[in-house]
Order: sequence, then C-alpha cells, then structure tokens
Amino acid sequence: MVLDVHKADDSLVDPSLLPAVPVGLPKVLDLVVSGEATSRAELARRTGLARSTVGQQVEHLVGHGILREIESSESVRGRPPRVLTLSPRAGTIAVADIDTLASQVAIADLGGRVLAQETVVIPIEAGPQAVLEAVTEELLNLLERCGRDPDRVREVVVGLPAPVDPQRGCAVRPTGMPGWDGFPVAEWLRSRFHAPAVVDNDANLMAVGEAAQDQVDTPLLCIKIGAGIGVGIITADGEVHRGADGAAGDVGHIRAVGGGGDVLCTCGNIGCVGALASHRAVLSSLGIPESTEEDPLFGAHTLAERVANNDPPAVRALRQAATEIGEVVAMLVYMFNPRTLILGGPLSELRDDMLSGVRAVVYQRALPLATRKLTITTTQLGENSSIHGGVALALRDVFSERGIARMLVDDAGAP
Ligand SMILES: [Zn+2]
Repeated sequence: MVLDVHKADDSLVDPSLLPAVPVGLPKVLDLVVSGEATSRAELARRTGLARSTVGQQVEHLVGHGILREIESSESVRGRPPRVLTLSPRAGTIAVADIDTLASQVAIADLGGRVLAQETVVIPIEAGPQAVLEAVTEELLNLLERCGRDPDRVREVVVGLPAPVDPQRGCAVRPTGMPGWDGFPVAEWLRSRFHAPAVVDNDANLMAVGEAAQDQVDTPLLCIKIGAGIGVGIITADGEVHRGADGAAGDVGHIRAVGGGGDVLCTCGNIGCVGALASHRAVLSSLGIPESTEEDPLFGAHTLAERVANNDPPAVRALRQAATEIGEVVAMLVYMFNPRTLILGGPLSELRDDMLSGVRAVVYQRALPLATRKLTITTTQLGENSSIHGGVALALRDVFSERGIARMLVDDAGAP
C-alpha cells in the first residue's frame, strides 16, 4: 500500500492510539465522496448495511465535520429530501511541485478538486530552507484565500526533480540542488502543517496524475523533459514503481546512443542524454540564458517564441533532442512494454516535433509486438499533471483505514 511505502504519518500519531474505524464506514464515506450515493437510503442499498447502521455512521461523519447533510432544493411534496455531501470542513490537500526555477503550489479539497493554484518563483538552488519557506507561505495564502482552515490540511505532498527516498522523505544525491541531499523535507513540512507529508519524484507525480485520467491504460511511462530527464513508471496494477532506493526512472544519466560527444553533465559524466536533450540542454545549445533579472523563466519563454516563429536553429535543436530522447524511450519500451507512453515537461509541449520525433525512433527501433498497442502521446494535463498526481496520492492515504481513523481523532470534540 502507498501509505506504508511513504510512511506519511511518521511521528504524528502513534498508530496504536488510533480508534478502530467502524465496519462499513470507509465504504459509506467513499460512496458519498465519489458522488455515487447522496442519501441514507441509497447508502443502505449500496452497502447492504442496515439503515440504522448507516444512520449511525452518517451521524458520526457529520458530527466530525467530514460530511454534511443539507436539504435539497429539489423539493418534492412535503419535506425536502436531505442530500449528503463532503463538508468543506473535511479539510484539504496541499501540493507543491518544486522545479528548478519555479514551483507550482495548489490546494485541493478531499473530493480531488483543485481549489486554488499559484506559481512561486524561486530557484531550487536557493536551498531547501528558502524554497520550502516560500512554498509554505504561498500554500498558507491559498488556504486563506479559499477560506480553508490550515489546521485541517490532511496531507502535504511535494514533488522534487531528483531521486527521492520515500521512506526518509528527502532527495538523494540530486545534481544542481545544493543543500537538498538528505534534507528532511517531509519532516520539515510535517512539523509546519501538523499533517502527514509525502515527498516523491516529480516525474512519478506526473505519471500518477496522467494515469488517473479517463481512458488511460497501464503500464504507463511518463517522461518528463525539463531541466533534466526523468521517467515515472506506473505498473499494470496502477502502482508507482520506485525501485529499491527510489532511483527508478532517473534515465537522464543514461549515455546518449551517439556517445554525446564531450558534453559534461551535472553528474560529472560525459554524454548523458539529459545533458544533450533536456530543456536546459536545448537552451544552452541555442545560447539562450535560462533566466534573467526581469524574467526568471526567460529561457522557456524565448524558446517557445522562437519555435512558434519557426526559427530554424530552434526547430532543429528540438528535433535533435527528440531523436536522442527517442533512443532512450525505445529502450524503455523494450524493458517495460508499456501500453501508454507520455511525454511531459516544457520541451514536449512546444509543438509536435518532439512527439513525432520520438514516435519515429520508437517505431523504428522497438519490436512490433511491443508497439502494436502502444499509445505515444503528450500529457493531458500539461504543467498541472504533477499537482493532480500529488492530490491523487494524498487521497489514497487520506481515505485509507488509517487516514480515516486519523481524521476521526483530529476532529474529536469538534463543533
Ligand atoms: Zn549525467
């Protein structure tokens, strides 16, 4: 289970002190949150529980501010029917997708709806303390803007552009991220929000977000082409494959097929595909600075503009990068035999050259059996994939047996 892998609630509540969750209560909650049942009668029918039992559980959940029961406006003769929904007081999920130059932060409700989202411009090189302070400040602003209680944040999820140790909740030997190696990100956030905190690799979150969309088949690989290149891997049964140490999918340091000349990578090796074909590498090959005093995202804006104007060197650089990435992707197709392969990150969204370039190499290199039913496409959610992935991961924890028990403890005595 995801919860056990992440140890999201370490040091918050002694699990042995959590109350037993009444039998059937998680199902009642799930049916209401998913919108599948909105009345006590429907709940009784769907769960097979006695109406009196359903009644007790509804009272319990309403009493703890998790559900609310309101009178429907659709009044049929006599007493208006009462409708069950998730209460706004049930709480929120806070998510931050931290990237090299800027971070996306968002607040979502427990129904998975994003309530507010903002960009925080701060370079990851500023170090964990400064970045986490900035991200936390913006999350608290968003909570205030939405009128949500900061004490009712149920889980915080953070994505980092680095290999992540999910047990310790920290980046492990990241490149270009001074101060982040081993910094206890999850612990820092737990103490700030008094809520469970989870840290994951950004490409993993992106993959979870994309895999949760309608009509997306697994196994799924999501390749994030940003400052580096990383892959999020979703197994056939919908779980993230993180590997033994959380380093699975860190493919940017695979040596490029052509050898990559003598380009030095941030990892200290020569010819890594990430040093040749990432967004950062393409900017550097075109002599475009990544950021300037006036525009922290100068590089991304300038490249997008040049590609839109069909600037030949920019289009050529994009196509070259697509070929390099295609070679790595073809290898991944051999290894994982995915059903869906998604390209994400700023470089893949500029225009179809990246997609068509990768497709061309994969179909040429990989065996027909592995590509027969393979879909290669770009993200459905664009730059919001990781945010949605973070929300999805958090909700699994929040609505797990332990998560529900924790909600019932937190709100004991609540009005
Ligand atoms: Zn490298």
